[in-house]
Amino acid sequence: MKAFEAVRHYFDTAANYLDLHDDIRGLLLTPKREVQVQIPAKLDDGRIVSFLGYRVQHNNSRGPMKGGLRFHPAVDLDDVRSLATLMTWKTAVVDIPYGGAKGGVAIDPRAHSRTEIESVTRSFIDQIHDVVGPVTDIPAPDMGTGAEEMAWIRNQWEKYHGFNPACITGKPVEHYGAVGREEATGRGVGILIVKMLGRLGRKANETRVAIQGFGNVGIHAAKYLHEADFKVVAVSNVGGGFYNADGLNIPEMLTYNFENGNTIEGYEKATKITNAELLELDVELLVPAAIGGVITKENAPRVTASLIVEAANGPVDPGADEILEKNGAIVLPDILANAGGVTVSYFEWVQNLQHYSWGLNRVRQELEQVLARAFEEVWQASREYEVPLRTAAYILAIKRVKRATELAGFS
Ligand code: NAD
Repeated sequence: MKAFEAVRHYFDTAANYLDLHDDIRGLLLTPKREVQVQIPAKLDDGRIVSFLGYRVQHNNSRGPMKGGLRFHPAVDLDDVRSLATLMTWKTAVVDIPYGGAKGGVAIDPRAHSRTEIESVTRSFIDQIHDVVGPVTDIPAPDMGTGAEEMAWIRNQWEKYHGFNPACITGKPVEHYGAVGREEATGRGVGILIVKMLGRLGRKANETRVAIQGFGNVGIHAAKYLHEADFKVVAVSNVGGGFYNADGLNIPEMLTYNFENGNTIEGYEKATKITNAELLELDVELLVPAAIGGVITKENAPRVTASLIVEAANGPVDPGADEILEKNGAIVLPDILANAGGVTVSYFEWVQNLQHYSWGLNRVRQELEQVLARAFEEVWQASREYEVPLRTAAYILAIKRVKRATELAGFS
């Protein structure tokens, strides 16, 4: 199933509980603006190539649009549209004053030098600078991008519009970034897992965890869960995974990853497994934290974890979701599970607008408050409507976006 079709399916399932009229469904699902641009770039060897870049701005009824920029070879318009739509529901679930957007470039960052990536990033901003900015649409990091790209983007955007660090979030701390932004998505995943375990009456030290993806999100989730006494038995990256039934030495793997240029490939103190095997391991908690569409109706019957926390965007497709539910598994949906990142991006934007910096403790405390409140609201909605957490989260989000749209009027 295509990514946008999956989001539409989840939207419709929730909208049915709200008796939402077809006209409103159409209005809430159609992006406000979709931009596709050609990005010409000169490679280090002198060749001129062009890449395709996208920015989809889905909805701004609750505030400026917000969403990451992804650099990955599989990026296309359908993918970016689905991710932009998810951002609208995500910002509404955690109730921060934003709409939703997303962008991306179809490029494999690992196949290019940093000079080439810088040139592509700046050239992309040359094409879209007039449709993004602090009060319209604020990009941030996503898969394949990080603080360095955000610094280039700020610098390039300011060449056209003047000083305004609130034009982008996820910047280096030295460039008006927020302390705690880098860890925020993975930390948020950890915070929500602890809340969910509390509600289910389960214990961290009796919970074995497998995490797919050892990038920004996976690393910080692994660190948080390890420190909270969970037994992290498997982690992976694009090249495959590592397993130890007694629990991996996460601090050692973090050091290994850091010392080996952001990869765990070649790690020798655990059994090598494939990404497919990781998803089907005998564990209590599975955290897909890499790409979308990894749990499908083909492999879902073999997933034994009773808790699945969608740290990545869209890792469980609708066919799989049904199977997991029938098997009694609980899925914490992406629009809540990975909302820690956009929440701290919001804190960064607030600090930039006020020209005032918060300390790490304040960032962490306020993150915990936002996520704890959102988790409780989703949990209660799930009881009230007698639906899984995903449908409950969509119900809350759709209600908020619909209300804001109606209050603004339609003319
Ligand atoms: P990242 O680029 O830092 O790391 C991605 C990880 O996934 C790497 O370990 C990579 O090796 C692995 N990977 C890539 N392709 C894979 C494949 N085919 N199979 C298995 N592993 C693969 O990205 P990230 O920022 O950690 O983002 C991961 C996911 O979390 C994405 O779905 C992203 O949309 C979502 N997300 C990220 C943020 C954020 O703040 N970075 C916020 C919300 C959601």
